Amino acid sequence: MDCIFCSIISGDIPSKKVYEDENLYAFYDIEPAAPTHVLIVPKKHIASIMDLTEEDAPLVGGILLGIQKIAKELGLEENGFRVVNNMGQHGGQTVFHIHFHLIGGRQLFGMV
Ligand code: 5GP
Ligand code: ZN
Repeated sequence: MDCIFCSIISGDIPSKKVYEDENLYAFYDIEPAAPTHVLIVPKKHIASIMDLTEEDAPLVGGILLGIQKIAKELGLEENGFRVVNNMGQHGGQTVFHIHFHLIGGRQLFGMV
Protein backbone atom coordinates (compact mmCIF):
# COMPACT_ATOMS: atom_id res chain seq x y z
CA MET A 1 0.00 0.00 0.00
CA ASP A 2 1.24 3.44 -0.90
CA CYS A 3 0.95 5.29 2.40
CA ILE A 4 3.57 7.77 3.56
CA PHE A 5 2.89 7.17 7.27
CA CYS A 6 3.01 3.37 6.87
CA SER A 7 6.43 3.92 5.24
CA ILE A 8 7.50 6.10 8.17
CA ILE A 9 6.33 3.48 10.69
CA SER A 10 8.22 0.72 8.84
CA GLY A 11 11.35 2.90 8.67
CA ASP A 12 11.40 3.05 4.86
CA ILE A 13 11.03 6.82 5.14
CA PRO A 14 13.18 8.33 7.91
CA SER A 15 11.57 10.33 10.71
CA LYS A 16 12.54 11.88 14.02
CA LYS A 17 10.94 9.45 16.46
CA VAL A 18 9.48 10.80 19.69
CA TYR A 19 7.70 7.73 21.06
CA GLU A 20 6.86 4.18 20.13
CA ASP A 21 4.92 1.35 21.71
CA GLU A 22 3.19 -1.79 20.49
CA ASN A 23 0.40 0.12 18.79
CA LEU A 24 1.63 3.68 18.28
CA TYR A 25 4.38 5.61 16.59
CA ALA A 26 5.02 9.33 17.14
CA PHE A 27 7.42 11.60 15.28
CA TYR A 28 8.12 15.28 14.64
CA ASP A 29 6.10 16.92 11.88
CA ILE A 30 8.30 17.90 8.92
CA GLU A 31 6.58 21.31 8.72
CA PRO A 32 6.12 22.36 12.34
CA ALA A 33 3.30 24.81 13.12
CA ALA A 34 4.77 25.59 16.55
CA PRO A 35 8.02 24.97 18.48
CA THR A 36 6.73 21.49 19.32
CA HIS A 37 4.69 19.66 16.67
CA VAL A 38 4.43 15.89 16.94
CA LEU A 39 2.27 13.48 14.94
CA ILE A 40 0.85 10.46 16.76
CA VAL A 41 -0.24 7.61 14.50
CA PRO A 42 -1.52 4.09 15.11
CA LYS A 43 0.67 1.43 13.50
CA LYS A 44 -2.52 -0.04 12.06
CA HIS A 45 -3.45 1.66 8.79
CA ILE A 46 -6.79 3.41 9.32
CA ALA A 47 -7.55 6.13 6.77
CA SER A 48 -9.44 8.58 8.97
CA ILE A 49 -11.64 9.02 12.01
CA MET A 50 -14.55 7.87 9.82
CA ASP A 51 -12.93 4.47 9.30
CA LEU A 52 -12.68 3.60 12.99
CA THR A 53 -14.78 0.68 14.22
CA GLU A 54 -15.91 -0.46 17.66
CA GLU A 55 -12.93 -2.80 17.85
CA ASP A 56 -10.60 0.22 17.57
CA ALA A 57 -11.91 1.70 20.83
CA PRO A 58 -8.92 0.49 22.95
CA LEU A 59 -6.54 1.77 20.26
CA VAL A 60 -8.16 5.22 20.34
CA GLY A 61 -7.91 5.30 24.13
CA GLY A 62 -4.26 4.31 23.82
CA ILE A 63 -3.64 7.22 21.46
CA LEU A 64 -4.87 9.75 24.03
CA LEU A 65 -2.84 8.11 26.79
CA GLY A 66 0.20 8.08 24.48
CA ILE A 67 -0.31 11.79 23.85
CA GLN A 68 -0.43 12.34 27.60
CA LYS A 69 2.93 10.56 28.02
CA ILE A 70 4.54 12.45 25.15
CA ALA A 71 3.23 15.82 26.41
CA LYS A 72 4.78 15.09 29.81
CA GLU A 73 8.09 13.97 28.31
CA LEU A 74 8.32 17.05 26.11
CA GLY A 75 7.49 19.41 29.00
CA LEU A 76 4.20 20.63 27.56
CA GLU A 77 2.05 19.86 30.58
CA GLU A 78 2.55 23.08 32.53
CA ASN A 79 1.75 25.57 29.78
CA GLY A 80 -0.64 23.38 27.85
CA PHE A 81 -0.93 22.23 24.28
CA ARG A 82 -3.41 21.38 21.56
CA VAL A 83 -4.43 18.07 19.98
CA VAL A 84 -5.84 18.21 16.44
CA ASN A 85 -7.28 15.62 14.09
CA ASN A 86 -8.08 16.66 10.54
CA MET A 87 -10.71 14.70 8.58
CA GLY A 88 -11.34 14.95 4.86
CA GLN A 89 -11.21 17.93 2.54
CA HIS A 90 -12.79 20.62 4.69
CA GLY A 91 -10.84 19.37 7.66
CA GLY A 92 -7.61 19.86 5.73
CA GLN A 93 -6.52 16.22 5.89
CA THR A 94 -3.61 15.63 3.51
CA VAL A 95 -2.34 12.22 4.69
CA PHE A 96 -4.98 9.50 4.76
CA HIS A 97 -3.57 7.49 7.65
CA ILE A 98 -5.28 8.71 10.80
CA HIS A 99 -3.05 10.92 12.95
CA PHE A 100 -3.25 13.36 15.79
CA HIS A 101 -1.23 16.56 15.87
CA LEU A 102 0.24 17.47 19.26
CA ILE A 103 1.11 21.16 19.08
CA GLY A 104 2.63 23.33 21.77
CA GLY A 105 5.52 25.46 22.92
CA ARG A 106 3.82 28.80 22.22
CA GLN A 107 0.48 30.49 22.80
CA LEU A 108 -2.03 29.22 20.25
CA PHE A 109 -4.93 31.40 19.09
CA GLY A 110 -8.21 30.66 17.34
CA MET A 111 -9.40 27.36 15.97
CA VAL A 112 -8.73 27.65 12.26
P1 5GP B 1 -2.87 16.54 7.88
O1 5GP B 1 -2.84 17.79 7.04
O2 5GP B 1 -3.20 15.33 7.04
O3 5GP B 1 -3.68 16.64 9.12
O4 5GP B 1 -1.39 16.39 8.43
C1 5GP B 1 -0.35 15.79 7.72
C2 5GP B 1 0.93 16.26 8.37
O5 5GP B 1 1.96 15.39 7.96
C3 5GP B 1 1.34 17.68 7.94
O6 5GP B 1 1.44 18.51 9.09
C4 5GP B 1 2.69 17.47 7.25
O7 5GP B 1 3.62 18.50 7.53
C5 5GP B 1 3.14 16.13 7.81
N1 5GP B 1 3.96 15.36 6.90
C6 5GP B 1 3.71 15.07 5.58
N2 5GP B 1 4.69 14.32 5.07
C7 5GP B 1 5.58 14.11 6.07
C8 5GP B 1 6.82 13.40 6.14
O8 5GP B 1 7.29 12.78 5.18
N3 5GP B 1 7.47 13.41 7.35
C9 5GP B 1 6.98 14.07 8.42
N4 5GP B 1 7.70 14.03 9.55
N5 5GP B 1 5.81 14.74 8.39
C10 5GP B 1 5.13 14.77 7.23
ZN1 ZN C 1 -0.84 3.98 6.37
